[in-house]
Amino acid sequence: MIIMEAGATKEQVEHVVKEIKRFGLRADVSRGEFRTVIGLIGDERKIPFEHFAALPGVKEARMIETPYKLISQEYGKLFEGESEHRIVKVGDIEIGGDKPVFIAGPCAVESREQLLRIAEDAKRAGAHILRGGIFKPRSSVHSFQGLGSVGWQEAEEALAWLREAGERFDLAVVTEVRGETQVDLAAEYADILQIGSRNMYNQDLLIKVARTKKPVLFKRHFGAGIEEFLSFAEYIAAEGNKDIILCERGILPVGKGKSYTRYTLDLASVPTIQKETYLPIIVDPSHATGRRDLIFKMSCAAIAAGASGLMVEMHYNPAEALVDAQQAITPEELGDLISACQKIYQLIAPGRNKN
Ligand code: PEP
Ligand code: MN
Repeated sequence: MIIMEAGATKEQVEHVVKEIKRFGLRADVSRGEFRTVIGLIGDERKIPFEHFAALPGVKEARMIETPYKLISQEYGKLFEGESEHRIVKVGDIEIGGDKPVFIAGPCAVESREQLLRIAEDAKRAGAHILRGGIFKPRSSVHSFQGLGSVGWQEAEEALAWLREAGERFDLAVVTEVRGETQVDLAAEYADILQIGSRNMYNQDLLIKVARTKKPVLFKRHFGAGIEEFLSFAEYIAAEGNKDIILCERGILPVGKGKSYTRYTLDLASVPTIQKETYLPIIVDPSHATGRRDLIFKMSCAAIAAGASGLMVEMHYNPAEALVDAQQAITPEELGDLISACQKIYQLIAPGRNKN
């Protein structure tokens, strides 16, 4: 990374960027309150750091050793000042701000009526963002794949319901994109694009989604370590999109015999990730546990661990849900969970952003 002098001119910054390109790398220019910092994207070993350190307007040329740099605390602190925690804004909703954010809705959008009813319930329970899967990443080809897989027209219709439900009940909306071809269409309707666990490693999808400039809800793969998770989030940041909401959703259970939960919710990842990056992180207790009866406690624990919010599957009649019925909670349960989590968030507020 290249740290510019506080008084560096626009021309000096442009000259450094030109030089970076000349060496075959890309530049990420971050203009902060105090100074401009330029992150190098690509193989830094190609760069003669002394050459860059000597360019006009440059204060320092420094190597960052981690596989993710642009989203690192170290980088963020340089241009934003101490204890940088990015707030991702979606309309007037702030993810990573001084209030927890709740995303709720069905696993899959099934019909306009189902979605409108759930949206109304979610709003009443205190949620801010409506979720609803249209392109579902199912394990079996014989399971319901989401309305998006029925056909292009059905996909667009379901996306329009999501938008309608969001507008009617004053909720932002998020939906998953499973493949590159779905991105442009989904971006027309959704406020946030979700990259699911199974696609965490799909670099082309990450790049395509990042380029829409929409906030990205980025879920950890169930087999990925934290460093790997952040390294892939860097692909999104490297496209100039730092509106990334990380999401912990559980990792593969270990050991013989029954685990009793669908995945193992790695709660220590929350404060660990907050030490590494300035990006906000939320938790999905629904997919992590796969069990309705565990959602309340794991939600409280996630907020206590420092999460900036939660994503929870909810249905007015969970047993009726076409996908993930066993983990959906009722609107009443969601309401109870949100009020408990809001209290916990306030309780730990003095310490939650300390590193
Ligand atoms: C989802 O949130 O709808 C989902 C499929 O979750 P995950 O990608 O974490 O399995
Ligand atoms: Mn689900």
